[in-house]
Amino acid sequence: MYRDSVKPAPFTYHDPQSRLDLHDLLGRLENTKLLAGGQSLMPMLNMRIVAPDHVIDLNKMPGMGGVSVGEDCIEIGAMTRQADLRHSREIAQHLPIMVEALDHVGHFQTRSRGTIGGSCCHLDPAAELPALCALYDAEFEVSGPAGARHVAAQDWFRGYLQSALAENEVLERIRLPLWPAGTTFGFNEYARRSGDFAIAGAAALISWRSDETVKRLAITLFGVAAEPVRLHEMESAIVGRKFDREAIHAIADAAKRIDAMSDPYVSADYRRRLAGVVVERALAAAQKRAEMPA
Ligand code: FAD
Repeated sequence: MYRDSVKPAPFTYHDPQSRLDLHDLLGRLENTKLLAGGQSLMPMLNMRIVAPDHVIDLNKMPGMGGVSVGEDCIEIGAMTRQADLRHSREIAQHLPIMVEALDHVGHFQTRSRGTIGGSCCHLDPAAELPALCALYDAEFEVSGPAGARHVAAQDWFRGYLQSALAENEVLERIRLPLWPAGTTFGFNEYARRSGDFAIAGAAALISWRSDETVKRLAITLFGVAAEPVRLHEMESAIVGRKFDREAIHAIADAAKRIDAMSDPYVSADYRRRLAGVVVERALAAAQKRAEMPA
C-alpha cells in the first residue's frame, strides 16, 4: 500500500473567479482535476487514485449553481449542492422523484457539499442523480476554451466512471425536460446500509391516457451495469397497454436479463435478480401514485 496514502501527491491549487480565468486555466494546463464538493475527488486524491498536477477549484465560480424552471424544462447549475436540491421548492414541484432519490445519496453531511455536477462527472455506477438524468433524457451543457456544447444523456455515459466530458471542459448545467402534469413516478433501491451506494436501484416515470392506459413510460436501472440502463424496449412495448400485474412482471423479467456487472462484493447474477425486484417495486409505486386522489 502507499507509504503516505492519506495525503494527496503534490499539486498546484487554482481558484478562478471568472469564466475567462477558468477557460484560460483549462486551455493552458495539463493533467488537471476540477474540484466541486470534493466528496469523491478528495478521497481519490488522498488515496492517490488520481494524482493531478493542478486542481482547479470551482467553488468560487459565478453562475454555476441554482435551479431555474423554463417552459418545458428545469435547468440545474452543476455546482448546485445536493442538499439545496433536496430542499428546493422547484425540485419538489417539478421533479419530486429527485427529492425521494436524494434521501438515498450519501448522508446529509456529504449532501451539504456534494454537487449534482460532481455526481454526473464522477459517474459512480450506483449514483442516483446521473440515473435520473438518464431517466429524463437530460442534456448536459459543457464549456471550455473551444466554446460551449450540449451533450444528450444517451451520449454522456461512456462506461465505468467515464463521461463525454473532454479533458479541458467543465460541466456548466444540466437541462431536464419536464413531463406532463399527472405523471407519476417510482423510485426504489437496495443498499446494505442507509447512505451506502446502492447495489441496484430503479427509477420510473409514467404518464397516463384518460382511459388509464400508459401514454409514456421511462425506466432506468442503476448500480447494475457500469452506467445507468434505460429499458427502452419495454418502455415502448407497454405504451397503450393497461398497466397491470402482467405488464409489471414482464418489465421486471426484462430487467433480470440485462448485462449486469460483477465485482468482488456482488455477483452479476445477484445484481440481475435484484434488478427485477427494484424495478417491480418502483413500477408498483408509480402505479399506486396513479390510483391515489390528486
Ligand atoms: P467532486 O468530488 O468535487 O468531483 C467528482 C469528480 O467530478 C471529479 O473528477 C471532478 O473533477 C469532477 N467534477 C466535479 N464537478 C465538475 C464540473 N462541474 N465539471 C467537470 N468535472 C467536474 N453519491 C451517490 O450518488 N450515492 C450515494 O449513495 C453516495 N454515498 C456517498 C457516501 C459517502 C460517505 C461519500 C463521501 C460520498 C458518497 N457519494 C454518493 C458521492 C457524493 O454524492 C459526491 O458528492 C459525488 O459523487 C461527487 O460530487 P462532488 O460535488 O463532491 O464532486
